[in-house]
Amino acid sequence: MVEGRSLDEAAVALKRAHYAEETTGRFRKGGKVENCIFCRIVAGEVPSEILYQDDEVIAFRDINPQAPVHLLVVSRKHITSALQAEARDGKLLASVFEAVASLAEREDIASSGVRVVTNAGRAAGQEVPHLHFHVLGGRMMSWPPG
Ligand code: 5GP
Ligand code: ZN
Repeated sequence: MVEGRSLDEAAVALKRAHYAEETTGRFRKGGKVENCIFCRIVAGEVPSEILYQDDEVIAFRDINPQAPVHLLVVSRKHITSALQAEARDGKLLASVFEAVASLAEREDIASSGVRVVTNAGRAAGQEVPHLHFHVLGGRMMSWPPG
């Protein structure tokens, strides 16, 4: 239970919210969502040091790093979370892991090990409702995650 709601109910609510976003016009031309920080970074409205980019994703450092290396691989397209990814997003998801491998090599964490995490929904701790993958490395990680 998450504050009185089951995880299934929370997931359904998230999906509804996503469809509401699509139908109430919060999606701007080009797929950007008003007030979405990651849409604004993708659009260049918020300056960031972009470490990797291709047609589908961009990557930059997390503002609040949880490891010596903590990067975010972010979809250019606004998708609320991995729970909303669809078959047509296959190329995007392949790009995510190409970006991860490339960045891990460049940041010199490929040989020691990398944790790739995506949080989907409130119980998982998702703060920014725009699909992104955390890439963490440079220290020993514990399991299970908190
Ligand atoms: P989530 O909790 O949604 O999985 O992760 C969101 C992440 O985005 C957090 O680790 C947070 O530190 C990071 N973040 C939030 N706002 C910004 C920002 O404006 N710039 C950067 N570089 N990272 C951000
Ligand atoms: Zn967005």
